[in-house]
Amino acid sequence: MKKSTDYGKSCTSSGGTCRLCLRVGDCLVPIFAEEETSKQLLSRISDCCPITLLENDDLPKTICRECEEKIAVTFEFRELCRKTERILKLQYDLRRTNESNWRIVSRHLLNYMVTED
Ligand SMILES: [Zn+2]
Repeated sequence: MKKSTDYGKSCTSSGGTCRLCLRVGDCLVPIFAEEETSKQLLSRISDCCPITLLENDDLPKTICRECEEKIAVTFEFRELCRKTERILKLQYDLRRTNESNWRIVSRHLLNYMVTED
């Protein structure tokens, strides 16, 4: 007798183990599918987790909804850190540029004052 496999529309894969937390579940998301969401998920996992994901190994190719959520939060946090660093470096560069401009201006001012005498 066949078991019912109606898991609802939100589940893209049924039955299996999460590649990231080992949870066994019915509602798992594939990471090597053709869909854009899977591709994005795969690149985010590679970006945020110190693991290597290969399509042709024997390890699980799905992750659970909780891990999908955690990856989204982690990715957002990483993006925030990157953005902050860009802003801080820009501010630092700007300050440095202003300081060197000030040195140039003050040298000119000094030259001007010297030649005036
Ligand atoms: Zn998981």
